[in-house]
Amino acid sequence: LVTKTFKPEPTVIEVRGHKIGGGSLTVIAGPCAVESEEQTLATAIAVKNAGAHMLRGGAYKPRTSPYSFQGLEEEGLKILAEARDATGLPIVSEVISPATLEISLKYLDIIQIGARNMQNFQLLREAGQARVPVILKRGISATIEEWLNAAEYIMSEGNYQVILCERGIRTFETATRNTLDISAVPVLKEKTHLPVIVDPSHGTGKRDLVIPMSLAAIAAGADGLIVEVHRDPLHALSDGPQSLAPDDFADLMKRVTILHDAM
Ligand code: PEP
Ligand code: MN
Repeated sequence: LVTKTFKPEPTVIEVRGHKIGGGSLTVIAGPCAVESEEQTLATAIAVKNAGAHMLRGGAYKPRTSPYSFQGLEEEGLKILAEARDATGLPIVSEVISPATLEISLKYLDIIQIGARNMQNFQLLREAGQARVPVILKRGISATIEEWLNAAEYIMSEGNYQVILCERGIRTFETATRNTLDISAVPVLKEKTHLPVIVDPSHGTGKRDLVIPMSLAAIAAGADGLIVEVHRDPLHALSDGPQSLAPDDFADLMKRVTILHDAM
């Protein structure tokens, strides 16, 4: 179901009037984690004013350490829904289990399955039974073939609204948090009709690399980006070093829009 042989024309996913794929640009922006109502609303308004199309924010955080901030859970989803009411931006957040998926469906416009759960086959099947678009992130050590098979799990249950997100893979390189595989974009474009977006924040782990890699992703043919933005990155509860301040994000939006329009 994922292949272009099965379906040659690009899949276009419509969310509250905004199209993902098929030549339109989609930029999803917001904090790594929903930390408070005030922080989320301020960031949502800032990214909306800069031209973002959707709002992201983690409510269930799959943190490497069990002692790190784990997210506000359902309270975080309620805050995201308030931010949608305030800005009109559709909301995206990660689910980490079938139970969190069920709760999240009451609030979200798009659900995200994170790198750590790319091969959580039960979660993929349940996301396939939902009728809401799914952003499927590439697993930390997943090949493109394994990733497409994960998308196939979702689609085989009847949910054809899958968006693939390249977010960097683990390599021997330590200068960056992950190695962002930009070549995955044209490889996927050859194999699948599904929309492809890139996460330059987790892909690099470094704020200064986010704009260059965003431009590289769009130049390579990506349908959009998912970018971490925090009102006050130095005090973020998670992923501050890779989060853009609102001004930097406004700069990113300008440059990415010019590049996309020129293509
Ligand atoms: C995220 O987007 O918040 C996240 C945890 O990303 P990933 O699953 O790519 O690590
Ligand atoms: Mn993050």
